[in-house]
Amino acid sequence: MRDEYTNVVVNGLSKMIIVPNNIIPFSGFCFINLFGVLFVRRDMIGHIKEKDYNHEMIHTAQMKELLYIGFYIAYLFEWLYRLVFHTKTAYRGLSFEREAYDNEENLNYLNTRKRFAQWKTHQNL
Ligand SMILES: [Zn+2]
Repeated sequence: MRDEYTNVVVNGLSKMIIVPNNIIPFSGFCFINLFGVLFVRRDMIGHIKEKDYNHEMIHTAQMKELLYIGFYIAYLFEWLYRLVFHTKTAYRGLSFEREAYDNEENLNYLNTRKRFAQWKTHQNL
């Protein structure tokens, strides 16, 4: 099953392991980035755009600098906080998502990204 696993290179530096499958994520979702590995519903693999991969690789960069578990803890607590105090923008306004959405179209972004950029230079939503 070696050919099930693929790498993608969107810009010169970053690679992402992609695991097409029928289980993760749940039906109705397209893909999920778990610890830098992208699990993709098999029937959705052709629908993922370069900017989607770039978006997920930005999250992977965020994960690495927070040693993965720190990313999930910070993401969860910020999301819970926003669910209470910024209900309408709870997801889209997350600092991690703002950085990823704001820069997903720039396929060179990860070559120039500053550390902890998710907490810098973003307008509050
Ligand atoms: Zn995202």
